[in-house]
Amino acid sequence: MKEYRGTGFQDHWQTLDWDDISLRINSKTAADVERALSSPRVSREDFMALISPAALPYLEPMAQKAQQLTRQRFGNTVSFFAPLYLSNLCANECTYCGFSMSNKIKRKTLDDVEIAKECEALNALGFKHLLLVTGEHKTKVGMDYFRRHFPAIRGHFSSLMIEVQPLEQQEYAELKTLGLDGVLVYQETYHAPTYALHHLRGQKQDFFWRLETPDRLGRAGIDKIGLGALFGLSNNWRTDSYMVAEHLFYLQQTYWQSRYSVAFPRLRPCAGGIEPASILNEKQLVQLICAFRLFAPDVELSLSTRESPYFRDHVIPLAITTVSAGSKTQPGGYAADDKPELEQFEPHDNRPPAHVAQALTQAGLQPVWKDWDQHLGRPLS
Ligand code: SF4
Repeated sequence: MKEYRGTGFQDHWQTLDWDDISLRINSKTAADVERALSSPRVSREDFMALISPAALPYLEPMAQKAQQLTRQRFGNTVSFFAPLYLSNLCANECTYCGFSMSNKIKRKTLDDVEIAKECEALNALGFKHLLLVTGEHKTKVGMDYFRRHFPAIRGHFSSLMIEVQPLEQQEYAELKTLGLDGVLVYQETYHAPTYALHHLRGQKQDFFWRLETPDRLGRAGIDKIGLGALFGLSNNWRTDSYMVAEHLFYLQQTYWQSRYSVAFPRLRPCAGGIEPASILNEKQLVQLICAFRLFAPDVELSLSTRESPYFRDHVIPLAITTVSAGSKTQPGGYAADDKPELEQFEPHDNRPPAHVAQALTQAGLQPVWKDWDQHLGRPLS
């Protein structure tokens, strides 16, 4: 396969030395952490200190500062969204995913009737912000499929995001005219040799094509761009987190018109799945979320149903601004919840969305089901 050679973040990524960054993070001291905590503006060097082992004893002041910044920038609100899985077809082989092409699972792509049922079921649960998710199969679930189904789906929701195969810049620009507000594209890992170990077939093998997807999104004027790494894939979650921070910093400088979000997915069990190469435990995940809030006070931080109810109820009020709830990770899962064998991964928080909302209300937060509308984010026709 021809490797993609772009002109965006790839150049900057080439200057980042994984081993050197790992060493620098590990050598941070308590004094570095204290300096970062008292700094009015957290630099990338400070961020290294905040995610380092030296910062673990400072979890309480980090959490306090993160919460203060979150309330100051976002008020007492948490936005709700739901993922809608349209298809589990995939032309890639990823070692950690139940949708991998060689997995012998039933494959399913929703048609217009099934999509309408899913949309209605999600509306009935209260959702107005939607994330469309597919495997990566550009011939069967590509632009033609999106063109065919976007307008009808858009009619049911006030905001529409996608998490699908990386597309060309002009394709993103076209989807924007059909109602696309945001795109999530996680690099999985920024360590190229590890990336090669886990992406065995298909276009996803092209590390740089994926790495520069946010550049294409920024150039296409997409309103919201979501970044992240899949923690547990590389053997150093700290270095992968630092790379996400570098990527975010670069994008904010380059495509300042777009908004950004960061997510913190950890490997979850799935059909044919692998064991994590490094463990990001819950305490460290809190540290990481707080470090991101301190580094990027205005950025949306998102937490999915991969995490447990207990963890979500305690951590969302600290720094999280966007959550999914009641997620089904199989196509058709909302209207007819009887096909768990089609799942991408097993969610951990299986509470109904209303229960999640109630728990957050009890913690003093206001669940927000709609804060965006059709006419925002793209030219009026
Ligand atoms: S992670 Fe994405 S690309 Fe890889 S197998 Fe799963 S759905 Fe396909």
